[in-house]
Amino acid sequence: MVHPAHLEQTVSAPLEFTGVGLHSGAPVIMRLLPAAAGSGIVFRRTDLDNFEIPAIGRNVAKVSYATSLMRQGVLISTTEHLLSALIGMGIDNVIVELDNLELPILDGSALPYVQAIQEAGIRTQRRRRESIRVLRPVEVREGNKFIGVYPGSGYRIQYLIDFPAPIGQQQTSIDLAAETYGIFIAPARTFGYKSDEKKLRDMGLIRGASPENAIVLTPKGPENGPLRYSDEYVRHKVLDLIGDLALAGRRIEGHVVAERAGHAMHTALVARLMKDRSAWELAHVPTANSTRDPSSSQHATLRRPVFQGA
Ligand SMILES: [Zn+2]
Repeated sequence: MVHPAHLEQTVSAPLEFTGVGLHSGAPVIMRLLPAAAGSGIVFRRTDLDNFEIPAIGRNVAKVSYATSLMRQGVLISTTEHLLSALIGMGIDNVIVELDNLELPILDGSALPYVQAIQEAGIRTQRRRRESIRVLRPVEVREGNKFIGVYPGSGYRIQYLIDFPAPIGQQQTSIDLAAETYGIFIAPARTFGYKSDEKKLRDMGLIRGASPENAIVLTPKGPENGPLRYSDEYVRHKVLDLIGDLALAGRRIEGHVVAERAGHAMHTALVARLMKDRSAWELAHVPTANSTRDPSSSQHATLRRPVFQGA
């Protein structure tokens, strides 16, 4: 018998979100619709004849402040928080309808998605879930930025950030079970420095930003506190990472280490992983060796690249 946790899932009922895009400021209505087993996560622009863009690495567009998808010139922007919530909640198949180009920023975290999915319910489907099981290390380094993925059971993420005051260095490590995502990662909000605000607004990059959807930082601390966690910043980077690595098309089985990374590094890792077909295999969940002692290989693997200079 196959345990339900090893089967694909979709949402039980349609969900609707309204809001504005963080970067574009564009108003948007977004609906999540149940989708057939094996169909994956597919975005649909209802304002453009229902043009569809699957959430896979091949469709990643230019990446700077957010991750965007593009196919045949049609854009879907700022996908990372929703994709993070879907991976975190174990949703494999869903159609995401949007009537504009950017997803709503909501409160700057993935919590509204998690709460709505929990309220609507999750439907188990008749298809065994597959994950991308990492077989060999794949790494991307750029100056002192680093990201790598290593073989290992489960989906573990270790992240180090190093930002100007008041953040400084923070690091965290999480074993991504469905139970922990909603509690430890989903509520962490995006953030920005007040000193950058005018420049970014003048460049038209944060038209939808407000104290309701981002932590605003001054050298003394957050202007619109209190924080949801003392290390909310690094937790938000983990949230972004999970959303960006979702573009591999399936949940990863392996250990990810990131240092001073961001959307460009996250998506570069996806591209490198997809290109190196010998570095991974599609495997049913759980894998045959997932019961092995996790303490032996994991710690050696996770510690190695951290705090090494470029
Ligand atoms: Zn983010």
